[in-house]
Amino acid sequence: MTESQWYETTDLWEIYHRALAFRVRKTDPYPQITRRVAVLIGLACLRATPQVQRQTFVLQAMEVAEAAVENNQWQLLDDFGPQAQQNCYDAVAHSGIDTAPHFWALAAFRLVDRGIELYGWHVPYFVLKAIRRAANIERMAQLFAHLLRDLLGNPFRGGRGEQFEKRRRKRCQTTFFPPWRTSDVMLLAQGIYAERAFQRMPILADALQEAGCDDDAILSHLRDSSLLHDRGCWVIDLVLNRS
Ligand SMILES: [Zn+2]
Repeated sequence: MTESQWYETTDLWEIYHRALAFRVRKTDPYPQITRRVAVLIGLACLRATPQVQRQTFVLQAMEVAEAAVENNQWQLLDDFGPQAQQNCYDAVAHSGIDTAPHFWALAAFRLVDRGIELYGWHVPYFVLKAIRRAANIERMAQLFAHLLRDLLGNPFRGGRGEQFEKRRRKRCQTTFFPPWRTSDVMLLAQGIYAERAFQRMPILADALQEAGCDDDAILSHLRDSSLLHDRGCWVIDLVLNRS
């Protein structure tokens, strides 16, 4: 798969697994993402889906997931697990297997499930199954692909950044130097994250450039107005030093 194919595909499995299987040398370890990033992928895709507003249980799971991520309290999600599992059984009992209620229940179950980093594409996948007859299905499939790419980072240019830096990739390297974290840069990045104010990304690009950042992958990600961002955006995470 080439870089441009990775950018064009809407196959969520392909996007996810290419990002996690991309190595320059055979001896390199596979890149990994954390539970935090996998949950944020699920949350971003759910938030982008208008139909989720009618799914009370999913909204409840999202609230718990958001609290777990922002406070780093994974126990909250683990405690919610049995409820999410019961909700799947109930959905099957009431509506049958592979029905929209069942797929919504599976999306909520995956969001709170341990080990989500192994199948971080499952939440959007089940949402697409749940809304498969809706008019916005194709738009949502494209949106989810964009969000996956925003959170995973482009593997052809070093993925989520610093973890690759250690391995001294010669090509496609995204390096972030700590001196670029000036108070201006940090304030802007924290504000963008907290308020989801992604329209301020070009201002952050200017502040980074002022701090000496000349990395094209970072600057162009911040300035490209065609891109979609959400919490967990690989560039904002890189600036805030979150994995
Ligand atoms: Zn982004």
